[in-house]
Amino acid sequence: MNRFAQKLREHSISLCRGRPEILQVNVGKLCNLTCVHCHVNAGPKRKEIMSRETIDRIIDWFGKTDIPTIDLTGGAPEMIPDFCYFIKRVKELHPSRHVIDRCNLTILLEPEYEDLATFLASHKVEIIASMPCYSPENVNAQRGEGVFEGSIAALKLLNSLGYGTDAHLPLHLVYNPVGAFLPPSQAELESDYKRELKKHFGIMFNNLYTLTNLPIGRFASYLRRNNKLDEYMELLVQAFNPATINGLMCRNTISVGWHGVVYDCDFNQQLGMQWNNGALMFLWDVDPAKIEGRKIMTGAHCFGCTAGAGSSCGGAIV
Ligand code: SF4
Ligand code: SF4
Repeated sequence: MNRFAQKLREHSISLCRGRPEILQVNVGKLCNLTCVHCHVNAGPKRKEIMSRETIDRIIDWFGKTDIPTIDLTGGAPEMIPDFCYFIKRVKELHPSRHVIDRCNLTILLEPEYEDLATFLASHKVEIIASMPCYSPENVNAQRGEGVFEGSIAALKLLNSLGYGTDAHLPLHLVYNPVGAFLPPSQAELESDYKRELKKHFGIMFNNLYTLTNLPIGRFASYLRRNNKLDEYMELLVQAFNPATINGLMCRNTISVGWHGVVYDCDFNQQLGMQWNNGALMFLWDVDPAKIEGRKIMTGAHCFGCTAGAGSSCGGAIV
């Protein structure tokens, strides 16, 4: 039994899935950036991207469910050749579904993607955008030189299209710590972000989500290199908060990889912890009626989701 499972047992907690509300699709590892904290190990040289055939099979399955939201992530999801095709097909479903794009902002300014922001606005796609700080030093240190300036330009572009002010075009920002520490209070940081981004750049957005870095992927390598992995793990373990359990994203979100395989969350996906205890299980082989009540696969990395105020795709949990 892993350390996290032991902790759940000590608290008499059984971690099982509730009703699925979000299908989160990781369309691949291709990205224009190579951030220090990336749990996907994404970058410009990665070849893993979702094919149109896999997209079609996912949408056929999704269309038969009553799951209201699809959440596209990566990598930079916009970089797969069929990104717009994917969104158009989802928007044709009846009843209509809500689409989220997890965007690194800078991709919206790359030469081949100039029309993308307009496309996203016209299809009423919610944008959840990474922005680890409101000052250049921290952003450029974590995400690369010039990323802050690019992100600001992209946010201005999104604001000009109505994102962040039009009720149909939500724009949320994501903060994650630039080192081996837990995020500060989400409410306080959101008010700092709103004040600073408005004052210096005239930028508006809806909510700020604070995320904890999980000790996997490139962030685990960074911790190991700096001899901080054990210390960080201990910080997460000591901050275990049982009140976060009900809000964990693995309870209401199904995660699918670029090849169509199903996982409890994007972190388990990166660790190869697929459903069926290691045997490949594709989304289209899953009976939607049998998802609720299913036991969730855990590991020591799960302490990252339950530390302090908790961490999920929608930010702090409590
Ligand atoms: S954290 Fe996001 S933007 Fe950065 S390399 Fe990973 S996928 Fe790309
Ligand atoms: S990493 Fe987080 S979301 Fe994933 S299974 Fe563990 S607790 Fe759930």
